[in-house]
Amino acid sequence: MESQSCLHIRGIDAVKHPKKHECEECVKIGSRWVHLRTCQTCGGTRCCDSSPNRHASKHARASSHPVVASAEPGERWLYCFPDDAYSEY
Ligand SMILES: [Zn+2]
Ligand SMILES: [Zn+2]
Ligand SMILES: [Zn+2]
Repeated sequence: MESQSCLHIRGIDAVKHPKKHECEECVKIGSRWVHLRTCQTCGGTRCCDSSPNRHASKHARASSHPVVASAEPGERWLYCFPDDAYSEY
């Protein structure tokens, strides 16, 4: 299978996993989330684009942290926001 991953994803050699299974932003405002993503630059865990607040993509844009990993149990993939690149690991 040909890898379509970008340089950001290829530069990751150890995937960061969530410290807590919760969105750190939603917890502060008492909101809910659907799925969780862990930022591969700072290690923070935030909610996905199916969640009302979309904290993971907002954080990626605001902080220029391009790559997230799924924080859902059993899911093993990385996603780069600026390149719209997806890669399983
Ligand atoms: Zn990228
Ligand atoms: Zn959130
Ligand atoms: Zn980050």
